[in-house]
Amino acid sequence: MSNSASCKACSFYEDHVANTAKVVESAGLCRFNPPVSQPEANSRGLWPVVTANDWCGHFSGSFSAA
Ligand code: SF4
Repeated sequence: MSNSASCKACSFYEDHVANTAKVVESAGLCRFNPPVSQPEANSRGLWPVVTANDWCGHFSGSFSAA
């Protein structure tokens, strides 16, 4: 996989964010899907945390929100 198609270049990647107030280095949230896990009924779901160099088959370099 080319580095140009990694999470850090993907339109769905939100850099330096990880479901907490803490700022993370070389990682962030994948916003392709909604939060997928909800550990307890009263807790919120969590967005997947990926590293900047991760990748997947949903990579997009051209997403635009309507
Ligand atoms: S996991 Fe896939 S969709 Fe999510 S930010 Fe990375 S390349 Fe994009």
